[in-house]
Amino acid sequence: MNVLVINAGSSSLKYQLYDMSTESVLAKGLVERIGMDSSILTHEVEGQPEVREVSEILEHTTAVRKVLDMLTHRKFGVIDSVDEIQAVGHRVVHGGETFRESVLIDANVKLEIRKLFDLAPLHNPAHMMGIVAVETNLPDVPQAVVFDTAFHQTMPPTSYLYAIPMVLYRKHKIRRYGFHGTSHDYVSQTAAEFLGRPLESLKMVSCHIGNGASCTAILHGKSYDTSMGMTPLEGLMMGTRSGDLDPAVVPFTINKEDLTLNEVNSMLNKHSGLLAVSGVSSDMREVVQAMNEGNESARLAFEMYAYRIRKYIGAYAAAMNGLDVIVFTAGIGENSDLLRKKVCEGLTFLGLELDEERNQARSKQTRRITTDSSKVDVLVVPTNEELLIARDTYRLVQKAAMAKSETPS
Ligand code: AMP
Repeated sequence: MNVLVINAGSSSLKYQLYDMSTESVLAKGLVERIGMDSSILTHEVEGQPEVREVSEILEHTTAVRKVLDMLTHRKFGVIDSVDEIQAVGHRVVHGGETFRESVLIDANVKLEIRKLFDLAPLHNPAHMMGIVAVETNLPDVPQAVVFDTAFHQTMPPTSYLYAIPMVLYRKHKIRRYGFHGTSHDYVSQTAAEFLGRPLESLKMVSCHIGNGASCTAILHGKSYDTSMGMTPLEGLMMGTRSGDLDPAVVPFTINKEDLTLNEVNSMLNKHSGLLAVSGVSSDMREVVQAMNEGNESARLAFEMYAYRIRKYIGAYAAAMNGLDVIVFTAGIGENSDLLRKKVCEGLTFLGLELDEERNQARSKQTRRITTDSSKVDVLVVPTNEELLIARDTYRLVQKAAMAKSETPS
C-alpha cells in the first residue's frame, strides 16, 4: 500500500509518498509560496537530481493537484497513476481534548477540527485546507489525521492543569496540551526497540530539540508531563520563543514599553529565545559559531539553553521517581554533540556517564552515547514524524478494510 503524507501550512505543503511494504520513501517534496506570485514546487526522488518547478499556485487544491501531477510525471514521477495512492495521512497540530489518537477523516472529524481553530489559529485552519484539497483531488481515497497533541492526552490532571480559576478550564479548555507528540511517540518507541526493553518498563525523558523544543516525561510508554503548554510557547528556551517566564512580565512590559498585547505576544514568540539572548541568530549553528569566535552573548544564550533542558530533565526524573533513558532528537538534539555534552555534564548525580567518543561520532542511526556502565542510557534517535503518520494511516485504513469485510452484507 502507498500512503501519501501531507503537512499543510498556510502557504506551504510538504509531502512524502511511502511504500508501506518496505516503509521506504518513494518521493518527497515541498510546495512553497502558495497564494503568492510565483510558487515553487521542489520534488525529490532518491538517487535522482532534485526537480524545481516555478508556477502560480493560488490555493491548496491546485498545490495538491501539482503534487499529484509530479508524482505521476512520466519522467520525474514514481507511480503510473493516482490510483496507486491508497491512503493519505495528514499532520494536524491541535487535537484538543477531543482526539486522543489518530483517526480516519469523516464529516464529524472535520467539524471537530474546525471547533479547535481557536486553540491553534495559525495551524489548524491551514491543515483543514490541506484536507479539503486532498478530498477534492482524490475523493475516493481514505484520509487520516495524526495530531501533535494526541500523545500527551495520557497526562494526569496534576500535569495538565494550570493553577488558575477552574472555570477557565471548564469554559475554554485552558490547560496544558503539549506538542511534538508524534516525534516523542516515535522516538520513545524506537529507543525501546534499540535497547531491547519493553517501553512499558521504562522511565524516559525525550528531548525534541529543534527550532521549536520540548521535553516529555514518558512513564511506562505514556506521556506523563511535557514542557509545552496550551501553546508551543511554554517550556524550554527555543530559537525565537522565550519558553517559561513569569506571566507578570506581560502586563509589566505592556505598561513600561507602551506596547500592545499583540506586540508582546509577537515578541515572546518571534523575537525571544536564542535570537534575543545571543543577539546573533535563532539558528543554533550560528550561535555556536559566534560562541567559538568569542562572542559572550552567544555563550550566555547557549548556556541558558542547555541549563533549561537540564532543569526539565531533573524535574521529570523527580516527577517519575527515577530515570532510565534520555533521548535527544530533532535538528539540535541529533546534531549538536556540544549541546548534549553541556546538558549531560550536570546530570552525573543520576549516575549518568557520557562517553565522549560515542557522543562525538557522526551518524544518522539511533545510537547510545553513554558508557556501558552508565546508570542512565542516553540515546540519539533521528526523529521521523512522517513515518509515524504513514504507519498510523496504514493501520487505520487496514483496520477499516477488515471491519468492512467482516460486516455481513
Ligand atoms: P529542526 O527545527 O529540527 O529542523 O532544527 C533546526 C535547528 O537545528 C537549527 O537551530 C539548526 O541550527 C540546528 N542544527 C542543525 N544541525 C546542527 C549542528 N550540526 N549543530 C548545531 N545545531 C544544528
